[in-house]
Amino acid sequence: MRKKQLKQIKEENKNMDSFQYCTLQEPPKEAKAKSLGNSRKKRALVHYSKTWPSRSTLKIAFMDNPTPEHKKKIIAAAERWLPYISLKFEFVEGAEGHIRISTEGVGNSSFLGTDALEMFPDTPTMWLGIDPEHEDFETVVTHEFGHALGAMHEHQHPKAQIPWNKENVYNYYQNRPLHPLSPGQVDDNIFTPFNDADALYLPYDRKSIMHHPISNNLTLGNWANPINREISEKDKELMRLIYPR
Ligand SMILES: [Zn+2]
Repeated sequence: MRKKQLKQIKEENKNMDSFQYCTLQEPPKEAKAKSLGNSRKKRALVHYSKTWPSRSTLKIAFMDNPTPEHKKKIIAAAERWLPYISLKFEFVEGAEGHIRISTEGVGNSSFLGTDALEMFPDTPTMWLGIDPEHEDFETVVTHEFGHALGAMHEHQHPKAQIPWNKENVYNYYQNRPLHPLSPGQVDDNIFTPFNDADALYLPYDRKSIMHHPISNNLTLGNWANPINREISEKDKELMRLIYPR
């Protein structure tokens, strides 16, 4: 029953615009309380305490048996990061992995870097609900893996200064059929800038794949940003800094 419903929702939203991605997941409160004791909690465009050890191998599990073709596409999109990092990816079947992917939900989201370790085993740490035939599939998957590597949203860069039409943004996200966001989630995922003195962030980059596409009706005046399909020069530089070879 549930699967059927999901399929129907996906079908209905197949042609929706690319604003479908993405929310950054936070570990449950209990897990967070535990982690705050021994790690820095400040947020940054890259969160130092949430990056994986350099040169380690990340085990990435497909939890719900996507088709070989679907899997191949996810792997290809994830591996676009490999030339710029010193990590290795090992893709496996089943429920055991540092990163655990579910393809059965409707939204697209991920935990930030090692936040994934705070989750109970057997639960997903990344949701890739996007239809593999969707034109933005590769972009969205690469973006979610950016989060899994520790990268935050570029549109929340402290220097971004996007002239948001906040009312329109709240309305848009609250009313979209697929994966609506509450005002609080909009604040966390769209508006709230990172202004952490400890942060590692390079200059604001409108071309970053971690920047959401922003349409003109979500801003005041004439301000829009297209969907960025490529890993930008700044994205590469950031990854080389946090995962040096
Ligand atoms: Zn995102």
